[in-house]
Amino acid sequence: MNPRINTPDRTNPDGSTTITMKRCCNGCGRKLGDVDNRDVDDRGNLTDVRGECPFCAPIVALEMTGCRAWWLTRRNIGAVDDTVDRDGIYAKGYFEWDSDNGKTVCVGLRIGTGEARIVARYGDWVVRHPDRTWTVHKPPAEVTT
Ligand SMILES: [Zn+2]
Repeated sequence: MNPRINTPDRTNPDGSTTITMKRCCNGCGRKLGDVDNRDVDDRGNLTDVRGECPFCAPIVALEMTGCRAWWLTRRNIGAVDDTVDRDGIYAKGYFEWDSDNGKTVCVGLRIGTGEARIVARYGDWVVRHPDRTWTVHKPPAEVTT
């Protein structure tokens, strides 16, 4: 697929601004570049462009192998925790000391117990593989939120 054009906003002599409509990733909302014909299918529905996104593309590749992935946030940590529990794996919030506020705060999800446990922080991807194993994928450094 051709690289997407990313036309910058232009300031006109009268002070107004001309913009080119941008397409955002349907996975994370990051701007990918100018809207073009690839963004709408034959029925007028928006297409899945997560494969173009440096943050979401690794997860799209995992989904193609049968994995399911969640981008861990404060909003979905309870649902992800429940899903891990349904696999018979112990999961709970992962807490760290916050010296700025003088208290421990939840910063993510701990999956499993003992040395085999893994920790997903908010903003990481939690991935369930077809064999019911769980892994954590960090976003690429250049696109961390
Ligand atoms: Zn994305």
